[in-house]
Parts: sequence; structure tokens; C-alpha cells
Amino acid sequence: MSRKPGSYYLDISGHSIKPQTDLFEFSADFLESLSLDPSAHIQSAAAQTVLTRHPSFLELQVDVKVQGEMACSRCLKMLPLAEEKNDLYIVKFWSDAPPSDDDPNLLWLHKGEVSMDLTPVFSDLLMQVLPQRFTCTEEMVPKPCDLQVLEKLKDISIGN
Ligand SMILES: [Zn+2]
Repeated sequence: MSRKPGSYYLDISGHSIKPQTDLFEFSADFLESLSLDPSAHIQSAAAQTVLTRHPSFLELQVDVKVQGEMACSRCLKMLPLAEEKNDLYIVKFWSDAPPSDDDPNLLWLHKGEVSMDLTPVFSDLLMQVLPQRFTCTEEMVPKPCDLQVLEKLKDISIGN
């Protein structure tokens, strides 16, 4: 089987009934290929997968962890980033024709496959892992953002 560089494949050929744990570390090239928040500076990003075999399907637990820095959405100060996201997938097998299914947590594989490409699953989770709104924490009193807003309000009132 030809494998694209930067793709992440999980070996599913084993027969152990014990859960199978695998670890994937994401390359800088892969992270750059995703449309992540441009201010995000990711130092490490990895996923752990736990595959459990059932008689007619596979259960796949995916846990994505990202560490680095990202800019505060209000004051643009760089803040430490440590995010984690996990999701559970059911993998089923088809033999005649690939079923069409809209459930994002249901993955279909041809029954002859011995590995599965998890690149799309990892891409999706990494896109979701970064917070939509990332601001300075409440413990910082006063918040740098609030000081900045106060300064701006002062400027506006002076301007008037
Ligand atoms: Zn801030």
C-alpha cells in the first residue's frame, strides 16, 4: 500500500481482544497544512488512540493534546496553551458498496483493509481543539485586556 507522507495510519490487522494503544506525534508540516488560528504557536501536538475490537465493529477512542502558545483574542498577549480533546468513533466494515452515512463518528472501511488512515480524524479534532475565544484568565487582576479597554475609553472621552 502506498502511504502519503504526513499521513497517519493505524494498524488494525491484529486480533487481540485487549485494547490496542497507539501514539501519533504530529509533524510541523502536518500542523501547518491545517487552517489553525494563525496566532497559535504549537510546540507539541500528539494523539493517543485506543482501539477495541468487537465481533462486528471496532471502537476507536482518540485523544488529541496540543501544547504551545496562542494570542489572547482581546489584548493579543501570547498565553500558554494546553488543550485536549477526545472523541469516540465506531468503525464498521463494508463489502459490496461503500455505505453513505452522515454520522461523523461512524467510520467505514472496506472489510479487506489492514490499516486505516486517521489523517482526516486527526485534522478534524485539531481544528476543534483550539478555543474559539481565548482570553487572559480571571485570576489576573486587573486583566491586561481591561486595562487596555480603559485606556481606549479614556482616549475616546479625551477625543470628544
Ligand atoms: Zn488579554
